Amino acid sequence: MTDTELYAALKHYFGFSSFKGLQEDVVKSILGGNNTFVIMPTGGGKSLCYQLPALIKDGTAIVVSPLIALMKNQVDALRSLSSEEGIAHVLNSSLNKTEVKKVKSDISNGITKLLYVAPESLTKEEYVDFLQGQTISFMAIDEAHCISEWGHDFRPEYRNLRSIIERIGANIPIIGLTATATPKVQEDILKNLGIQDANTFKASFNRPNLYYEIRPKTKNVDADIIRFVKKNEGKSGIIYCLSRKRVEELAQTLQVNGLKAVPYHAGLDAKTRVKHQDMFLKEDVDIVVATIAFGMGIDKPDVRFVIHNDIPKSIESYYQETGRAGRDGGEGHCLAFYSYKDIEKLEKFMSGKPVAEQEIGHALLQEVVAFAETSVSRRKFILHYFGEKFDNKTGEGGDMDDNMRYPKKKHEAKDEAVK
Ligand code: ADP
Ligand code: MG
Repeated sequence: MTDTELYAALKHYFGFSSFKGLQEDVVKSILGGNNTFVIMPTGGGKSLCYQLPALIKDGTAIVVSPLIALMKNQVDALRSLSSEEGIAHVLNSSLNKTEVKKVKSDISNGITKLLYVAPESLTKEEYVDFLQGQTISFMAIDEAHCISEWGHDFRPEYRNLRSIIERIGANIPIIGLTATATPKVQEDILKNLGIQDANTFKASFNRPNLYYEIRPKTKNVDADIIRFVKKNEGKSGIIYCLSRKRVEELAQTLQVNGLKAVPYHAGLDAKTRVKHQDMFLKEDVDIVVATIAFGMGIDKPDVRFVIHNDIPKSIESYYQETGRAGRDGGEGHCLAFYSYKDIEKLEKFMSGKPVAEQEIGHALLQEVVAFAETSVSRRKFILHYFGEKFDNKTGEGGDMDDNMRYPKKKHEAKDEAVK
């Protein structure tokens, strides 16, 4: 396929005139039938990397994804691009016999280009037997970090994928995709999928427009937050708290102080959650005070600040959550309150878990401590954690954190933190 044909296909299926970041190289690698590994931050455009080759190639691409809601969204989006409804299907346990029959006949007839499956459905004998006889273009494993205990979302079912793929077909190219950039997780993915030979494409995780700031958490944290929010009145922001109770309290405190805030956590009924989320998206309120239940799939480009009332349990979580600020490339202030007491609290939460999990949790927390207490560039620390070299050049966000703007001696930072 020539470049002209490739760009024509991009335009035809997605309406885009150009690729984003590393997409073109990834697409070419997959079109060439290679095992391929893609590491790009959330929003980087990973879906297109496998969707376009799937639409171009003969046969059906199988896409493994952990969330049914995500799969349904993608299938709906693909169907809206085509006049052929069978172009994409989801195969899962909620389908009745007639529906499964339709999926199977669309695949056999070469109509279906993308078949989304949850990993637990892929273990069903009936499906494996059926897929063995079909033309499969490649297997794409989305959210591939689910394979690793070092990832933030370990799913044991992901561990069996390699052997299932082998049963479906011996030479099916395997594509792994993730937004988790730590070298350990990457190693796990390549090993577990058996694709150490994969062409690897890793995008930069630098977010030059985000400003990172860590402040010591004292008894006056409420006043500190109120002051910050008042200074930024009218701007959209998210405030993350560890507990539902704290979410409720802080939302109320802000309201009492005349600030437009709503709470969001999994303890609220679905109707209230949707209502509060909409109020935030439509800017009826400026602030959502939330647990980490808030944010997955929320695409508000002009979130101007993310505050962490409590420090997260890993650098990955911190990066994901702060990453919801400044999606439009504009200002994004990331302010976290840190106290060693909160680290001890997080350690305590883990104490009921299996030993192996505790050890991993502890190691991840130690990185958070090092990050919070460091006197070097926060951005450099984060990027180094993700295996990326950073030289603090201006224009790349080199001076966009508290340590670079207001350098202080190491022991000062530490003393303040333990107060
Ligand atoms: P990821 O899975 O990496 O988080 P998505 O695949 O969900 O990212 O894509 C994020 C957004 O980028 C989507 O809204 C998508 O339409 C958009 N996008 C992807 N590729 C392109 C492109 N080549 N040009 C413009 N927008 C794109
Ligand atoms: Mg994705």
